Amino acid sequence: MANVKIYTTDFCSYCDIAKRLLEKIEVAYEEINIHGDPAMRDQIEELTGRRDVPQIFINDQYIGDDDSLAALVNSGEIQSLLGSDQPTQVETKSNIEERNVIIIGGGTAGFAAGIYTSRAMLEPLLLIGNALGGQLSLTLDLENYPGYFGTEANEFINGLKQQAEKFGTETRFETVTEVDFKQHPFWVKTYDQEYTAKSVIICTGSSPRTLDIPGESEYGGKGVSYCATCDGFLFRDQRLIVVGGGDAALEEGIFLTKYASEVFVVHRRDQLRASQIMQERAFKNDKIKFIWDTVMEEVVGDEQKVTGTKLRNVKTGETQFFPIDGVFVFIGHNPNNQLFQDVIELDGQGYVIVDRKQQTNIKGVFAAGDIHDHVFRQAITAGGAGAAAGIMAEKFVAELENRSYPAEISTN
Ligand code: NDP
Repeated sequence: MANVKIYTTDFCSYCDIAKRLLEKIEVAYEEINIHGDPAMRDQIEELTGRRDVPQIFINDQYIGDDDSLAALVNSGEIQSLLGSDQPTQVETKSNIEERNVIIIGGGTAGFAAGIYTSRAMLEPLLLIGNALGGQLSLTLDLENYPGYFGTEANEFINGLKQQAEKFGTETRFETVTEVDFKQHPFWVKTYDQEYTAKSVIICTGSSPRTLDIPGESEYGGKGVSYCATCDGFLFRDQRLIVVGGGDAALEEGIFLTKYASEVFVVHRRDQLRASQIMQERAFKNDKIKFIWDTVMEEVVGDEQKVTGTKLRNVKTGETQFFPIDGVFVFIGHNPNNQLFQDVIELDGQGYVIVDRKQQTNIKGVFAAGDIHDHVFRQAITAGGAGAAAGIMAEKFVAELENRSYPAEISTN
């Protein structure tokens, strides 16, 4: 029998895809999880020239990642590598899994919906996507979630996942690629699997717009932030830049003056987009200074933290290095609605429209968290909405199956 080894880490959707493919072709494998093991990562780099996972070996021969595995399976070449005479059985027709409730998105709203629907014995499936935690994955600390006395956002989100799983939520690192809500049960497709569900809860969140400049992603969590409420306190008596000229930039900039010694608002024009009242508040604040007609071109640091930025005046073309301790970017958010355009009703800004019971315009499809809420955008508000969506999904499925449910909550 062939010796198949697959190197993986925790929270790796591509690793799950590769493992499922091996299972589909009924090949036994040894999984080596290198999570938190830099020495193993170095070793893999030595063997493969790559630091990412999954990486797969058959009889000590390196064959590549999940894509390489899929190509070998599809071409049939895998057979000779496995030393097998038997044609490899690959299921060409996908098995459609039938579920009660599918939750799309692994942030606070999604896990709250998972906790409620699993406690209702609905065995929900939560499709996390590639990354755990939604907006919380962008921040280090979480101190404002009532009842949570830890401080680490990462620990909090792992706790939510465990709590949801404890009650029977099945979580998978799969990214949804397509949905069809015209049919019922609803149809949900990921890269390699199809599902139907009696009810769907959309918790895909929103993503802060990024500047897309050198150093920005490298120093994410090391001085570059998209959430003043989450990270502001880390910058006591330090100098900060806020990028943007809208209400969010000024509101968050004013908030940051509680901690920072100075806040420089860097705006690409000489006029703010923010409302008059917010402008007046910012102009009155002694700690806030404006750098007009200026764009940020690079975030610079010493590998551990941000130390400065490169700024360019768009009118004069003059560039300067500007020493700074932190950069907060508030240039708007984009709801993660790509799957739902022309599928459910969105508002003018692209957020999913829900009623007070988290119901979208399609009965049985609910939404919770930043995908519909562009006002509060807090973990606690997303969690509350997720819980409400979970309760409503439970009610919807119960009605569908003519089961009783507390009468005071109606889906109408
Ligand atoms: P906005 O779209 O209102 O503002 C975004 C700002 O970022 C603009 O000044 C824009 O510049 C700037 N910007 C956009 N892209 C870039 C870029 N690539 N580089 C540099 N600057 C860039 O977003 P907000 O998040 O501020 O607000 C969203 C909505 O929420 C608004 O309707 C706002 O009123 C509302 N809101 C209300 C609050 C309140 O009332 N308290 C608080 C927060 C938000 P430019 O102006 O040149 O386009």
